[in-house]
Amino acid sequence: MKNNRAIFPGSFDPITLGHVDIVNRALDLFDEIIIAVGTNADKKYMFDAEQRFAFIQETFKNVSKIKIMSYTGLTIDFAKEINVNFILRGLRNPADFEFEKAIAQTNRKLSGIETVFLLTSASTSFISSSIVRDIHRHHGDISELVPEALMKLIQKK
Ligand code: ADP
Repeated sequence: MKNNRAIFPGSFDPITLGHVDIVNRALDLFDEIIIAVGTNADKKYMFDAEQRFAFIQETFKNVSKIKIMSYTGLTIDFAKEINVNFILRGLRNPADFEFEKAIAQTNRKLSGIETVFLLTSASTSFISSSIVRDIHRHHGDISELVPEALMKLIQKK
């Protein structure tokens, strides 16, 4: 039987319940999901690469079909390097669609790698990492927007 693996790339600054929803639903479609934490030298992050990775690791620590990796550079290059044929992305709204469409078509043209989109669940569609960062920066409560594992890690500090 075919072993279908997908990479779920993103900044995850930080991981939210929206990301968790997409990953959990994609578990029914793929044999393995590699959550790929990207670092782009031109981007400023609230949480550094290690923290972003640790939040995800703690969130999915009991799920054997999920692997977490860090990468820099082009997502398609990383996908090829680890021999993955699908990119997983979530769609929340028309703005996501327009943006993702251009990237997915370019990626397919350059590499043949298909992007698989899952539509956000109604209950998490409003959640974005940038809003979570804003609330957190101003010491607001993000506990209903992010995984419990992340809350535990940031409260430990
Ligand atoms: P990037 O900087 O690559 O967009 P993000 O961490 O912001 O990285 O997002 C990674 C993926 O998760 C994207 O496909 C994004 O559309 C999706 N995503 C983010 N928030 C949600 C949400 N609330 N519901 C569904 N998908 C989401």
